[in-house]
Amino acid sequence: MKNGVDASAIMKKYEVVIGLEVHAQLLTDTKIFCRCSTKFGAEPNTQTCQVCIGMPGVLPVMNRKAIEYAIRTGLAMNCSIAPYSRFARKNYFYPDLPKNYQISQYELPLCEHGLVEIIIDNEVKRIGITRIHMEEDAGKNIHEGKGDHSFVDLNRTGVPLMEIVSEPDLRSPREAAEYMKKLRGILRYLGVCDGNMEQGSLRCDANISVRPFGQKEFGTRTELKNINSFKFVEKALEYEIKRQISVIEDGGKIIQETRLWDSAAGVTLSMRSKEEAHDYRYFPEPDLAPVVVGQDWIAEIKKSLPELPDEKRNRFMTQYGLPDHDAELLTVERAVADWFELAVQAGSQPKAVANWMMGDLMRMLNEDNKSIEDVTLKPDQMAGMLKMIDEGTISGKIAKTVFEAMYRTGKNAEDIVKEQGLVQISDTSEIEKAVDDILAKSPGEIERFRAGDEKLIGFFVGQVMKATKGKANPKILNDLLIKKLRV
Ligand code: ADP
Ligand code: MG
Ligand code: ZN
Repeated sequence: MKNGVDASAIMKKYEVVIGLEVHAQLLTDTKIFCRCSTKFGAEPNTQTCQVCIGMPGVLPVMNRKAIEYAIRTGLAMNCSIAPYSRFARKNYFYPDLPKNYQISQYELPLCEHGLVEIIIDNEVKRIGITRIHMEEDAGKNIHEGKGDHSFVDLNRTGVPLMEIVSEPDLRSPREAAEYMKKLRGILRYLGVCDGNMEQGSLRCDANISVRPFGQKEFGTRTELKNINSFKFVEKALEYEIKRQISVIEDGGKIIQETRLWDSAAGVTLSMRSKEEAHDYRYFPEPDLAPVVVGQDWIAEIKKSLPELPDEKRNRFMTQYGLPDHDAELLTVERAVADWFELAVQAGSQPKAVANWMMGDLMRMLNEDNKSIEDVTLKPDQMAGMLKMIDEGTISGKIAKTVFEAMYRTGKNAEDIVKEQGLVQISDTSEIEKAVDDILAKSPGEIERFRAGDEKLIGFFVGQVMKATKGKANPKILNDLLIKKLRV
């Protein structure tokens, strides 16, 4: 697969199959089996007790809030909630795991058979959720900056996690990233996880295989670990698709293995193969009672669920007449959706608000790596600016400058327009003067226009706009030009 053109033709022969295992840290104040704090960023080993450092003889006590949060998530992702589920011990030896086993769920998870919707190319696609199970986090080994020593921080040990396992329903890196964003949105709407990928409260392992189109059986998969951003989900998967296809095209076989995404080098590296894979010797956790969830509790939690992204998206489509693409983009994050609705309530046209938010606002937020909660710009300020456009005080073009200044300074549109003298010129005689000036300088263009080259109208508009610093009212300018040119 050396030649670029051939390579892309070869890539097209293969279908990509992806399934994600997403770990989400639950936003409980205390750990899953003890009362230690879960707060991020404390001095190493200051948030530990006999239970979470695995002293012999201690007993875990289930955190009811953690179960409630997992049920909330299960319901929001359309899962059935098991009336009876159980914890299990997953046995392995590693320095960050003082008990030498992780308490997890195995054959009887709390939630199963769910689904989540994503929008891909303006179409709804349903991604199956195989299961959501609960488990405790392990500690953290620290190697960097410690010379030839390694250290272990057990603050994270026993922090409650959910593992959300998808069906192999995803068909491209972009779908995987969209799905991940959707999960993050739902978790944040529910308030069960802060979705902070940099701090590791949301992490993902991606399983991926390729198969020639038309083949029924899945190809052999690899599992990619260590992915901690949406960008890296896509990049790691893109890399792995190319790698797998070129192995197959060169007559080789994919080995089922775990690979590590090296974000600095932009490659995946083999970590361990299936043959070396652990035998975890799972068995039921004898120190915890099975989890029995009554229908009344489920009903109560169901009642307490907020409006979720998909419902909100559908409502935005019917109530505000937005296309599904816009509605999806504006509802993935609750804060974005709220901002939109406030701007509309302040009297703006929904589609105009949507366009400004999806265009200029999101671009600037992206560039500054900020979220909507971080900016001083308020929805009613956007409404104020849109009103000035509607009333013809500023042109749409000038509004771009005004909007950027609003975003940077937090000032109102009116003040910016006044300070910078950006008011649109709607005085016909003033525009006419500018038009006459330009016409006097352009006899050749006038002749060509009159000979039939009507595209030249753009040239005249451009010249007048330049002379008026973009402030001429476009409608008046256009009418004047047509009147004067078509004599
Ligand atoms: P394990 O227990 O080894 O992690 P699972 O069967 O639970 O394996 O699968 C884990 C993830 O791998 C799931 O998200 C599933 O959708 C995905 N998966 C399974 N088979 C394939 C495959 N052939 N290609 C891509 N993804 C797959
Ligand atoms: Mg796995
Ligand atoms: Zn503890």
